[in-house]
Amino acid sequence: MDFDELYQEIILDHSKRPRNSGVLPPPATRGSGYNPACGDEVTVFVLKSAEGKIETISFQAQACAICTASTSLMTLQVKGTTQEQALEIQRHFIDFLTKDGSSEGLGHLRALAGVKKFPQRLKCATLGWHALEAALKGDAG
Ligand code: ZN
Repeated sequence: MDFDELYQEIILDHSKRPRNSGVLPPPATRGSGYNPACGDEVTVFVLKSAEGKIETISFQAQACAICTASTSLMTLQVKGTTQEQALEIQRHFIDFLTKDGSSEGLGHLRALAGVKKFPQRLKCATLGWHALEAALKGDAG
């Protein structure tokens, strides 16, 4: 299995069996995003611990495979981090896709490297991350 096939596997796996799928009730905060170019809709739910770490995270998506997989991978990557750390990972991931930034520390998110060749899919890959940012800064409800 070469790298491309491995990456394909990860994206297929996460799009078919998204991790942390579901709704969290308040006091969890939520943030949503919509990508009209593809029709992707994602809502991310975040519940922080008393120390300000992302204790629980979930999402609901009506989205393409890239968007669903990226959001599923995102929830695994940011769980247990602080808001600052989560937003740092977000910047790092977007730099990786848009500016040929380093993939170090991105783990399975590197599976989305193929998106670099398809700029029109960039919004699919980053939508869940913008919804995360909105959830972190958002209100309960
Ligand atoms: Zn999409």
